[in-house]
Amino acid sequence: MEILSINRERLQSDIETLAKIGRCEDYGIYRMAFSEGDVQGRAWFKNKVEEAGLEFYQDGAANLHARYQWDGKCPSVMMGSHMDTVPAAGHLDGALGVIVALECLRCIKEQNLNIDYPLEAVAFSDEEGRFGGMLGLQAITGMLIPEKIINAADLEGVSLIDAMKNVGLDAMDALHARRSPDSVYAYLELHIEQGPILDDMDISVGNVDAIAGLFKWDVALTGTANHAGTTPMDMRKDAFMGLSEFAYRLQRILDENGSSRSVATIGRVEISPGAANVIPGKVEFSLEARDTNPDILSDLAIVFRKSLSAIARKHELMFEFRVLSEISPVKSNTGIVDTIENVCKSLKIPFLQMASGAAHDAQMMAGITRAGMIFVPSKDGRSHSIAEWTDMDDIEKGANVALNTMYRIAGGQL
Ligand SMILES: [Zn+2]
Repeated sequence: MEILSINRERLQSDIETLAKIGRCEDYGIYRMAFSEGDVQGRAWFKNKVEEAGLEFYQDGAANLHARYQWDGKCPSVMMGSHMDTVPAAGHLDGALGVIVALECLRCIKEQNLNIDYPLEAVAFSDEEGRFGGMLGLQAITGMLIPEKIINAADLEGVSLIDAMKNVGLDAMDALHARRSPDSVYAYLELHIEQGPILDDMDISVGNVDAIAGLFKWDVALTGTANHAGTTPMDMRKDAFMGLSEFAYRLQRILDENGSSRSVATIGRVEISPGAANVIPGKVEFSLEARDTNPDILSDLAIVFRKSLSAIARKHELMFEFRVLSEISPVKSNTGIVDTIENVCKSLKIPFLQMASGAAHDAQMMAGITRAGMIFVPSKDGRSHSIAEWTDMDDIEKGANVALNTMYRIAGGQL
């Protein structure tokens, strides 16, 4: 099998140029969906696509597509990510995946290589969620309904309809952007890890075999608020003592009932009444757990409940909880995982088979097609900030893995 290489100088120049679009004095990038920065980024992408002699297509949800050998009949091998950002963002989250996808199409076109499936490089609209998140993906995967479009607004109260109208688009057109599952042969995405594992292990490429699912609860432990001076320690119903005992047990619960990929977080705590001289009568806290195995997630939910009930009994508290959200884990397509592995081996690039703890576009695309992901390291695991950084050597390796994986899949080797 022929081994292809991306054009490193061109890739680096594209990364650096796009990084300047929407950049403000604080060095952060502001390309929130349908903002001025986003519009400039979109224009830049369109220009690059046309400059490369690829076909440019914008669907009803304002997802941008670069297409090669597109005939409207044969399903495509799609690679993509997003160009919109959170406020004060770094330059790689999403953007790198779009630029690498474009570079892959350019390389395959330039070398006039034979492929069985057309290629698409896609930039999805509002992935980061100015209007709730994953607008473009919801549209493509057929999960959008008129109500969602009508009700979508950003934190300042600007509606999606107005924001799109402002840039000459009709938000309702997003309802017509759905892609039938037989129009996409496979979906690939290269993304920065946004976590510390690859950087810590000094490995350039991650082969993502699953994206973690999660459950998120609101938990309340209720005891009795009372005088902190007059109530003896053995006569208290201190809600915070219940929480702290549970927090202390959390690691052991994961060790005994979770997997090496399990994580759990108590990220928000409210103590009432919240005074230094009052015994906490009530604690309310968030409890979130993630894993790539659905059985482990449901085991963890059971053990958390049992543990919280036992602690509540011991401290004479009342235990209540509410499920806020549950998202199922998504497995990458095993054929794609194997292809990425074989490509890494033939390119002699060390890789790590790993999970993604964060949600990604590939998670939704997996609902309509075979999906797989390639990670490159995030320096110190930093993301969604100007501290975001990946060495160009790692980017080049990841991009070469993406290119050869796309080429093999498009050549029917899946
Ligand atoms: Zn992203």
